[in-house]
Amino acid sequence: MRDLTLRTRVLPLMLALTALAVLYNFNPTSRANFMTMQSTSAQNGSDAVAVPNPLLAKWDGAYGGVPPFDHVQVAQFKPALEAAMVENLAEIDKIAKDSAAPTFENTIVALEATGSTLDRVTTIYGVFGSTMAGPEFQVVQREMAPRLAAFNDQITQNAALFKRIEAVYDSPAKAKLTPEQQRLTWLYYTNFVRAGSKLDANAKARLSEINQKLAGLFTKFSQNVLAEETDQFIALKTEADLAGLPQSVREAAAAAATAKKQTAAGVISNTRSSVDPFLTYSDRRELREQAWRMFINRGDNGDEHDNNATIAEILQLRAERAKLLGYPTHAHWRLENAMAKTPERALELMEAVWKPAVARVHEEVADMQKLADKIHNKEGAKIKIAPWDYRYYAEKVRKERYDLDQNEVKEYLQLEKLREGIFWVAGELFNFNFTPATNVPVVHPDVRVWEVTDKTTKRHIGLWYFDPYARPGKRSGAWMNAYRSQERVNGAITTIVSNNSNFVKGKPGEPLLISWDDALTMFHEFGHALHGLNSDVTYPSLSGTAVARDYVEFPSQLLEHWLLTPEVLQRFAVHYKTGKPIPEALVQKIKLAATFNQGFITVEYLSAALVDMKLHLAGDKKIDADAFEKAALAELGMPEEIVMRHRTPQFLHVFSSDGYAAGYYSYLWSDVITADAFGAFVEGGGPYDKKVAANLRKYIFSVGNTVDPALAYRSFRGRDPKIEALMKKRGFGS
Ligand SMILES: [Zn+2]
Repeated sequence: MRDLTLRTRVLPLMLALTALAVLYNFNPTSRANFMTMQSTSAQNGSDAVAVPNPLLAKWDGAYGGVPPFDHVQVAQFKPALEAAMVENLAEIDKIAKDSAAPTFENTIVALEATGSTLDRVTTIYGVFGSTMAGPEFQVVQREMAPRLAAFNDQITQNAALFKRIEAVYDSPAKAKLTPEQQRLTWLYYTNFVRAGSKLDANAKARLSEINQKLAGLFTKFSQNVLAEETDQFIALKTEADLAGLPQSVREAAAAAATAKKQTAAGVISNTRSSVDPFLTYSDRRELREQAWRMFINRGDNGDEHDNNATIAEILQLRAERAKLLGYPTHAHWRLENAMAKTPERALELMEAVWKPAVARVHEEVADMQKLADKIHNKEGAKIKIAPWDYRYYAEKVRKERYDLDQNEVKEYLQLEKLREGIFWVAGELFNFNFTPATNVPVVHPDVRVWEVTDKTTKRHIGLWYFDPYARPGKRSGAWMNAYRSQERVNGAITTIVSNNSNFVKGKPGEPLLISWDDALTMFHEFGHALHGLNSDVTYPSLSGTAVARDYVEFPSQLLEHWLLTPEVLQRFAVHYKTGKPIPEALVQKIKLAATFNQGFITVEYLSAALVDMKLHLAGDKKIDADAFEKAALAELGMPEEIVMRHRTPQFLHVFSSDGYAAGYYSYLWSDVITADAFGAFVEGGGPYDKKVAANLRKYIFSVGNTVDPALAYRSFRGRDPKIEALMKKRGFGS
């Protein structure tokens, strides 16, 4: 359940709308998403430069063309977006005004061929938004977000266009289309209806107003969080302030101090990658509390970056929009086209897991309290486990009970060796081969590119970009991004994807060591990449990761399982000094410890997912986020030793776009499927069973959204997913 982000082909636009996390979007779908309103845009485009704008050019070079990162300047985005919107409008207009009777070919397929220029521009715009968002770029974002939202509405509110889509959808000829074509037609129709195509003119106007306002508020929310993550930090003044920190954390803190021009011995930045290790290892309890408070109060400090008023406004606008569209709440509207279908089913799953998870937390706290008493009794002091103590004492219990030292494990986890490991797994499961591609422009010198080919046929499959290191203007966390989706309508188009993370660069010439959790995240994000690279569909709107939000984490979470296979550990988890593989005894400890702390992990996540759902079931009353959160958690019986993984004022998944709003439950939903799916390998010949892997590719990784996910899963597993495997994986209820 990593915080990931991925970009889907279906709605490239929204991705582009924020500097951050979530890329899926609420809007309708289809490539046809970009139409507009452009006449004003065209006029505003008068500041376009006279020289050709490289963002508008077709991608050239090898591999069917690659993004021209080497020629991009921030000033080019606005004119490029404007020109591309104008072009897209003209394309859509031509389809809407076609005098021929509507057919699948002249309407749906025609729509699939529109918007390629805008796709290219918004792709690079999205890459800058998530990895190169300096102050100059943020100005462009603030201006363009509402305009791009309005542009989306112009497409879905085009009455003539919708009439043609509806005619194809209702036509008896539809029955003669292939299943993929029928699903594409259904998707266009549904997405247009869900975006308000059937509303009257007044309602449409209000809807568009709401969407533009929301886009502006999302940008504001994200930029507020980014500001507090960037500006706030804790200076560790003396050596004594570093007590308990392992060498790698000390080095990262020292590097952060240098970057922030502080003379302190170290700096703890206000980001998860900096705060979590500090909370895990620092012996200085009062500093832990200080760091914890700083981190959980992002966006909630009552100052210029406070997000509470923005949240209230977002929730009211979403509630109003849902009503306009004929749904009781935003959650009902959002879930309708997810695999879960209704908020009730999502809540039912969450509640089934909540109680055993909370019970486990109470056991974990009791274990930690016992250990804390033992340690502090010697000093004659006594502490009661507080939220800023959880990670610290959990780590001590882990060490005591399993004799598992995360830092010992880390010595076997070299970033580049693990990268070779994921390549090897992709070779075993999908017959992929990876070769460095050195002739491809990148957005930053840290980014490297590999060509993916089929091991047997040597066929070109796609490109994989790897952007592993943190830098200013790059959002925190790890995510996958699709730069280009596989399809066959506009030629034999191959996949381009990237994996992004925020490792602090090691010393030159020394291997970068990462944690077990980070290694799992690498496998996770690579799972999204493989989902994109395996795509074998005709239509771009159905390609790769463009699947239901609560299904998209399934392929990625599934890949995490291969890290723990002996094949990977023996070859790729090798000691950074001796080159020796990780000892079997240490692997056994990792396995035994796998269900350790699952109470904390599950409750931390689930409390956030439940609050998200409840916020979006609350209707249109004015919500005070802090008060709502407090009341909702009290009602749930939230253990006082844990705080939500994302408190409401910093919940980027939910308030930086519509992507995960009433959708944060998706990680759990997908994990039920994941745990159940891995059982197919266990029951077969193991993780590298060729037959099961072939089925995995055939029914899951290659089909994109051409098949209903519930159906696709049934084809793979022979039945629906069961919750038991998840409960077992997390060590609950046994
Ligand atoms: Zn993911």
